[in-house]
Amino acid sequence: MGPNKNFFTAKLTSWHATENQRSLPWKSEKDPYKIWLSEVILQQTRAQQGLPYYLAFTEAYPTVQDMAAAADEQPFRLWQGLGYYNRCKNMLATARYISKELNGQFPKTYEELLQLKGIGPYTAAAISSFAYGLPDAVVDGNVYRVLARFFGIDTPFDTTEGKRTFSALAQELLDTKASAAYNQAIMDLGATVCMPRNPLCDNCPLQKKCIAFHQELIDVLPVRSKKQSVRNRYFNYLLLKYNDTLWIHKRTGNDIWENLHEPYLIETAEPLTTATLSKNTQFEDLNIPFNEIIYEGKTTQRLTHQFITASFFTANLAKKPSIHSQTGIWLNTSDLKNIAFPRTLVSFLENNLYF
Ligand code: SF4
Repeated sequence: MGPNKNFFTAKLTSWHATENQRSLPWKSEKDPYKIWLSEVILQQTRAQQGLPYYLAFTEAYPTVQDMAAAADEQPFRLWQGLGYYNRCKNMLATARYISKELNGQFPKTYEELLQLKGIGPYTAAAISSFAYGLPDAVVDGNVYRVLARFFGIDTPFDTTEGKRTFSALAQELLDTKASAAYNQAIMDLGATVCMPRNPLCDNCPLQKKCIAFHQELIDVLPVRSKKQSVRNRYFNYLLLKYNDTLWIHKRTGNDIWENLHEPYLIETAEPLTTATLSKNTQFEDLNIPFNEIIYEGKTTQRLTHQFITASFFTANLAKKPSIHSQTGIWLNTSDLKNIAFPRTLVSFLENNLYF
């Protein structure tokens, strides 16, 4: 290792031992199940937002067997509000696999952990180092940022070459005798000192030799290869109400909000009004008198690559329409609170209509 690399590892390790104040309940955890749980929750979620979910999950399911035995709906209900529901689906599938096929025992090496559904290189390294002390370096957004800035690396981190470069460097820098502490240190430094905007360079143990700091490159590092395009989607929900029931169905397929419920959906590429809704062919198939439609309002949600606008239209029906295009059930509105909906819909339905 070159002198800057030695400096990096030594300073980071001593900062962690003396100054790092970041305290989170999963830190120093040795149980691979709880480490895995915290990492799954924290993917694409800030620590403070993920914290109550971690506590709720560990209370409801103290062991992987407890989670494996949960009824399908329950983990999704607890997950509400975190988004990216595929994470929850994979988590449940993996818990059941470990419970059934591996006798409730988590795999004990990086390579074996990588075989599990929903566990990528980052999570495998986190579990192997935190639970078992194995010499596997974690590489996540925090690590890309700290390494790119300190070493002045302008290779885009989201390319094959970039991933290889940063992973190899992270592995080289790892304090192999204290991999858990080192991995925790670099992630905490990225989260609390070398933040994306306005990093606290004056409090940083790496400042003396940091290339981005000395060459004024903080705002341009790390480099991403391309701007991510965002797709606009318009979800027009028909709240089909018959007596005290509402028609809902479970989302399936390889799309957002899989396994969560929603009212009758007409998805369009452009926003709909009550007037344009009445001309939509999917709406026409329902054969609902147009004068029964009331526009209730809309809500939006920004995802990584999508911007969802959900609009709500109520139809108070005198008779049930025949619904061909989607399968679902008529549920009593008093039971809606027991059903897992996407958070975007829950907040609207709660505030405006039902719960
Ligand atoms: S000196 Fe500033 S830019 Fe460099 S690693 Fe520290 S916080 Fe990040």
